[in-house]
Amino acid sequence: MSEMTSCKPKIIMDLESLNTSNAQGCPACGRKFSLGDTAVLACGAWGGGSRYIHENEAIKDAKTSQYFERGYYMSLKAGA
Ligand SMILES: [Zn+2]
Repeated sequence: MSEMTSCKPKIIMDLESLNTSNAQGCPACGRKFSLGDTAVLACGAWGGGSRYIHENEAIKDAKTSQYFERGYYMSLKAGA
């Protein structure tokens, strides 16, 4: 993971970020990112650490200030 992705939990997709992220697309919805999309570094059911997903698919946990994919967050809350 590059320094850029580890330091910025929220980014606006530019060409460089698109090139990096669109190899796999958004793990939350499976679509590609578009130029200018807001993406956040979030944890989710995909495992293997945090990935960029569309901001509207993420929830920010107030306690930890970390982003989680919505469905994953709900399941975490339900299991707690
Ligand atoms: Zn998405």
